[in-house]
Amino acid sequence: MRRVLLIFIDGFGLGQNDKAINPLVKFDPPLFRQLFGVPLTLTAAPVLTDRVCMVATDTALGVSGLPQSATGQTALFTGINAPKVMDRHIQGFPGPGLAKIIAEHSLLSELAERGLAVTSANAYSPNYMDLVAARKRRHSVTTLTMLNANLALRSLPELQAGQAVNQDITNEMLPLMGITTIEPVSAAVAGNRLAKLAKQNHFTMFEYFQTDRWGHKRDWDIAKKIITVLNEFLTAVYAESQDELLVMITSDHGNFEDFSVKTHTNNLVPTIIWGPACCSVAAKIKALTDIKPAITTYLS
Ligand SMILES: [Zn+2]
Repeated sequence: MRRVLLIFIDGFGLGQNDKAINPLVKFDPPLFRQLFGVPLTLTAAPVLTDRVCMVATDTALGVSGLPQSATGQTALFTGINAPKVMDRHIQGFPGPGLAKIIAEHSLLSELAERGLAVTSANAYSPNYMDLVAARKRRHSVTTLTMLNANLALRSLPELQAGQAVNQDITNEMLPLMGITTIEPVSAAVAGNRLAKLAKQNHFTMFEYFQTDRWGHKRDWDIAKKIITVLNEFLTAVYAESQDELLVMITSDHGNFEDFSVKTHTNNLVPTIIWGPACCSVAAKIKALTDIKPAITTYLS
């Protein structure tokens, strides 16, 4: 049985091999060094081996301006060129136009309709729906894909039971939201839990957005911590997933890889894939709109 784990890292592009501006060069996470032999930059792509692949992926999709989250994530999760349909890159959260594209073309709905077990590993706060109803939060693209497919959102009971992962990976941000009942976990434990959950489903996704948040703020100390956490997390996923899971790591646009600007970038993003037949999947991916068909074909 084929299984896919999609790890979506917001604002995570392929930058220059320059440690003065690129945290991924300055802090050079050991997993990427082990997998690619060099830091994760544009010059490292493509990597096409039996074990792991990494291909540069276009997020501009033929539309001028800086790629943004709402249109980029819609393209990623629907295969539709959302910036082209909307005639611009749209930041933040999807409005009615993008919500319609998601409702009609979502990857998760298509897989769920086939009878496959589909889930998001992300844990939502218990009052998330109330906050949305009170207009204090808005649904992200990934949340809309879950709700459109009538899939249950994981929350604190699943997190407590090791069957979910918090958006910050280590649970350290939960007390900031008034949640004090969940213990912090190491990034390695979180990664191990994510891979185990992915082995219980046909398609599992996890979304991490601290990269985009802190890429805008250009804080080198927090960038170092983010890279340490991501390295430990992905190393644990790698160790637990070998030969059983197709793991795909990708992003919606660049940002974190270039601290010379506080905006998103026009850089290509990495799509990193390991697991069974990773090369045949990677060969199909040139742009964000290729991710959905690559996954639906792989799982057919
Ligand atoms: Zn951003």
